[in-house]
Amino acid sequence: KIQKSQVLDNLPKQFFASLVQKVNQKIASGADVINLGQGNPDQPTPKNIVEAMQKATADPNSHKYSPFRGKEELKQAAADFYQREYGVQLDPQTEVAIIGGSKTALVELPLALLNPGDNVFLPDPGYPDYLSGVPLANAKLNLYAINAENDYLPDLTEIDVDHDKRNLIYLNYPNNPTGAIATPEFYQDVVDFAKQNNVSIVQDFAYGAIGFDGNRPVSFLQTPGAKDVGIETYTFSKTYNMAGWRVGFAVGNSDIIEAINLIQDHLFVSVFPAIQDAATAALNESQESVTKLVSRYEQRRDQFFNAARSIGWEPYKSEGTFYAWMPVPEGYTSEKFADLLLEKAAVAVAPGTGFGENGEGYVRIGLLIDEPRYTEACQRIAKLNLFKK
Ligand code: PLP
Repeated sequence: KIQKSQVLDNLPKQFFASLVQKVNQKIASGADVINLGQGNPDQPTPKNIVEAMQKATADPNSHKYSPFRGKEELKQAAADFYQREYGVQLDPQTEVAIIGGSKTALVELPLALLNPGDNVFLPDPGYPDYLSGVPLANAKLNLYAINAENDYLPDLTEIDVDHDKRNLIYLNYPNNPTGAIATPEFYQDVVDFAKQNNVSIVQDFAYGAIGFDGNRPVSFLQTPGAKDVGIETYTFSKTYNMAGWRVGFAVGNSDIIEAINLIQDHLFVSVFPAIQDAATAALNESQESVTKLVSRYEQRRDQFFNAARSIGWEPYKSEGTFYAWMPVPEGYTSEKFADLLLEKAAVAVAPGTGFGENGEGYVRIGLLIDEPRYTEACQRIAKLNLFKK
């Protein structure tokens, strides 16, 4: 038997794999499972984007290597998009990196910026894949808590920066798993804190387009000074339902962008050229599909919230993303509650502890299935008599 490297042994377990397994077992037993546990967008990619891809694949030039560091058209489209949407000016040559989905950059960043033993600070609860980059870089993992009392924004004074090391802080707003969004004031505090303490920031804007009740999430780069301290990652996966296409971009601080590009030069060339053309069309053409998508998620949130409230299950407000963050009833842990719902109601939810210990007391609901199923899920849960009305 050939041994794998210790680095791979140190990678975190993929939490969602075990959830999927439990759900599949239940389905195999013949149950009609309502799956609110997953985070995979359910809608198709908009037609204009698919057509742009088809047209591009018909051109043999798109069968060749992409230019290193991505096509000029896509980098320009990303810069234009940030200008148009957020009033942020970017140099497409030095302040934009094309990446294979945002996960690529999020996992590569510790390797790109840190030396062994330097610090990574991750939110708890938080998107589990951030953890993967830490052992790859032999960096030190530090978790910071985010809580409902602070609207899931961290208390920066609790982030224990080591001034003898490099420090990299991850932020994620709109937030997975809580659905919280950040304020411009918070981002200004982050920039001030980063400058005072010489830390770098990566803000994950995967759900940047998805804000509810007329609230448009702000970009971190709109904050004066943000480009001095960090970057923002953006993905086509959520905004344009392109999760399988694996394309995104990172924008902001040119030193960090250069470091990401350098890693990618060595690991792979760039995204398939036809996918880059489709991504360019996604950014440059009408955004009507995005408006429709966001209002669909908002409708689903309202439908689920109404059904949950009618059985005495009071949600934490969901301001954006396609998730709702729901408290578990007294006497249950997140995992026990999730297991009970799957077992007795055939409703799958993601336990909050899958996102970190501080997610205890909550479960995450995905707004990614057809509308009538939310009411049905809550009707099934009501039969378990867990909530006082
Ligand atoms: N960031 C967050 C918070 C996510 O929830 C996800 C996907 O679920 C990603 C990043 C990764 O997205 P992708 O790699 O498809 O761009």
